[in-house]
Amino acid sequence: MDLKQYVTIVDNWPKEGIKFKDITTLMDNGDAYRYATDQIVEYAKEKQIDLVVGPEARGFIIGCPVAYALGVGFAPVRKPGKLPRETIQQQYGLEYGKDALTIHKDAIKPGQRVLITDDLLATGGTIDATIKLVEELGGIVAGTAFLIELTYLDGRDKLEGYDIMTLMQY
Ligand code: 5GP
Repeated sequence: MDLKQYVTIVDNWPKEGIKFKDITTLMDNGDAYRYATDQIVEYAKEKQIDLVVGPEARGFIIGCPVAYALGVGFAPVRKPGKLPRETIQQQYGLEYGKDALTIHKDAIKPGQRVLITDDLLATGGTIDATIKLVEELGGIVAGTAFLIELTYLDGRDKLEGYDIMTLMQY
């Protein structure tokens, strides 16, 4: 299936000069959403995943159906102040300034093989921070999966040494 036909490119959003890849039109189509999910499920099976971890909010959209299909758990990674119990935190750089991501301290058991999911790999900053959270809790990052990779931003370089699968490249 040619998944790109279901992605809508939105010019100048959220700001001038950005060509935003809108995946809501892919999710809106049952066949496309299932096809994309199935591809990631096959990858996750190869990697013998025990747990799926994804950053808010679109990492949930990709990761949760994969976890359901595999019969494994899903652990959310969220912005500070969103998770109710004890968390660990990782800062990461944005285009302007800094942000942080958190995960519950007991979300991962040491040695668990984790698949990290998100909708899109750009500079890799979000996933780099997510990897650090998983590893701080003793998880093994067995793979990372994305619908879309913006190859010109070289996110792969930041994630060197980790396995990366992407379904569409721009
Ligand atoms: P990175 O941290 O790799 O630079 O940026 C990736 C994060 O930004 C992802 O969590 C993704 O949801 C969001 N993102 C950046 N650009 C786009 C885009 O064009 N489309 C979508 N859907 N998400 C984007």
